[in-house]
Amino acid sequence: MSDLRNLPSVDKLLNRASASALIAEYGRPLTLEALRATLEAARTAFKNTQQIPTETEIFQQAETQLQKWTAPTLHPVINASGVIVHTNLGRAPLSNAAMKAASEAALGYSNLEYDLAKGQRGSRLLHAEEMLVRLTGAEAALVVNNNAAAVLLALTALAKRRRALIARTQLVEIGGGFRIPDVMAQSGAKLIEIGATNRVHLSDYQQAIDEQPIALVMRAHRSNFAIVGFHTEPELPEICTVAHAAGLPVVDDLGSGTLIDTAPYGLGHEPTVQESLAAGADLVTFSGDKLLGGPQAGILVGRADLIAKLKKHPLARALRADKLALAALSATLLHYLKDEAIREIPVWQMIAAPEKELHTRILGWIAALGVGVAIPGESTVGGGSLPGQVLPTWLLALPNSRPVKLLKQLRESHPPVIARIQDDRVVLDPRTILPEQDEILLQAILGIFNANAAN
Ligand SMILES: *Cc1c(COP(=O)(O)O)cnc(C)c1O
Repeated sequence: MSDLRNLPSVDKLLNRASASALIAEYGRPLTLEALRATLEAARTAFKNTQQIPTETEIFQQAETQLQKWTAPTLHPVINASGVIVHTNLGRAPLSNAAMKAASEAALGYSNLEYDLAKGQRGSRLLHAEEMLVRLTGAEAALVVNNNAAAVLLALTALAKRRRALIARTQLVEIGGGFRIPDVMAQSGAKLIEIGATNRVHLSDYQQAIDEQPIALVMRAHRSNFAIVGFHTEPELPEICTVAHAAGLPVVDDLGSGTLIDTAPYGLGHEPTVQESLAAGADLVTFSGDKLLGGPQAGILVGRADLIAKLKKHPLARALRADKLALAALSATLLHYLKDEAIREIPVWQMIAAPEKELHTRILGWIAALGVGVAIPGESTVGGGSLPGQVLPTWLLALPNSRPVKLLKQLRESHPPVIARIQDDRVVLDPRTILPEQDEILLQAILGIFNANAAN
């Protein structure tokens, strides 16, 4: 007998063991809401179907709803793309020590802003500062939320309602809509653009400085593209000489920034933080989670008087770094101090991974899978560093007549696998896959191939 009156009430459902199980898992208010929503949907459907669901069906639907409402939106993925610092995939994976430091800071109290020697309020700014000073040779350092914040703070504190000089060769968009000129405008600094898109001369700097009062000279790393062909641009030491002669500070946004030279690893040269400071930059800004290989952070190093001014600015409070990030950053910096960065920091392990090792790993995968071939390919560093530069790698190419479908299936597996298509084949780069993920990766691929074979 199909009659809406036979639909159980919420109260009746709540007395069932199935309801208790859902309440234990999801809590009472959410379970109640899911049951009400399921009953409401059943009443609506009844108008068309003249059918009412069984209690079992109601509980199943409610559970599906509860799973949907409570599923995390942020989950781990396997990065098989070969892009080491992949902004869409969360940039740098942390070292074990950095992860442990963050987790300790997260689980308990810490002396974040407490001076243990004096028994009074201290400063959160001191935690990574000493190590940054030691590593870079700068007079002082400051850590904020990210590099965009570092640039914003520097320009606001030093050039608000005044003029900041920048070459047109450097008015870049980094990605995600971050444009250097927009951030400069946001700071309240008036942008004075000099030179042409492809060519800037030292005389352009000199002329602009002679013509009007300027607060600072800015330089931004081009990050994600290279200018080839008819191009010229003064080097940082020359820019600093001209700026300093006029008493102006130079702020160098290095973007990724690196403390280690990338050249020995078969890559081009990425300017290091130490080089920028040695070239005369008064403030250098860079990210914590690009080539540094740590947590999201914006790092400023340079002249003590300028850093002091930045620390005192009200914006510094709004842009401050979080304690978990500070803990992880300090642990990451410690790897550099102890000369173990290449060994301990995942980003550097990936950069330094020997081709032969990557090849051997793929042969192991092929043996386990019973399918696929190893083909030579290229990995990239990403993260706005080393544009156009690649690392030779080995790729696992999977046999498939429908690569777009396979790519999607990999994306939809648990955990999702982010691969790419090259020459009509789905390829996976072992360089960016953490060794401990090998097993689940192989399970995911086998699962997909078995399911496709069964269909
Ligand atoms: C990446 C980048 C930024 C932004 O850094 P975030 O840490 O993502 O805020 C700024 N400037 C340059 C040149 C960059 O490459």
